[in-house]
Amino acid sequence: KPVIGVFALQGNVREHLAMLAQVGVEGVPVRRPAELAAVDALVLPGGESTTMDKLARSFELFEPLQKRIADGLPVFGTCAGMIMLANEITGGIEGQETLGGLDVTVRRNAFGRQVDSFEAELEFAAFDTPYHAVFIRAPWVERVGLAVEVLSTVSSGPAAGRIVAVRHDRLLATSFHPEMTGDARLHGYFADLVRDL
Ligand code: GLN
Repeated sequence: KPVIGVFALQGNVREHLAMLAQVGVEGVPVRRPAELAAVDALVLPGGESTTMDKLARSFELFEPLQKRIADGLPVFGTCAGMIMLANEITGGIEGQETLGGLDVTVRRNAFGRQVDSFEAELEFAAFDTPYHAVFIRAPWVERVGLAVEVLSTVSSGPAAGRIVAVRHDRLLATSFHPEMTGDARLHGYFADLVRDL
């Protein structure tokens, strides 16, 4: 039975652990390299990517994370976690780095001031009914590499067409917060991906 870690130095950790429990997988917080080494997959939560970047370095998790991702660790990055996974970002702060692995360019705080936070119904080919998504100072995906599958885009309004969910092999990322609405379908999708390896 796979164990899925949740990066726990910053961000919505408890919410993700609750969602993992809901889809029947064991979730554990990850703060130290030894804890990272013990998991089969990882969630990078929403929060603040600039802080996550700094904390991952000071807790000596940054390089072990990069190495495990390069070695094929399945990772689900949500909001700030999507930024952390992106190979390239725009709108980052001076010196901000990402773990990388996901072949996309992500724009940080992309939706702009007027729509800092908003909710939208998203279509996913894998789901029968729309997914209610909560966006909070969210990034969007501006470029996707050839190996990246677009799972969902915003369907209407000023941000229509913007890419907000992607998958690149074992890496899954969403602009929004799937841990906040009680809809466990994306955690279930990730758990299936991990179980099927
Ligand atoms: N704007 C945040 C960042 O740059 C992400 C916001 C979020 O995770 N809700 O990391």
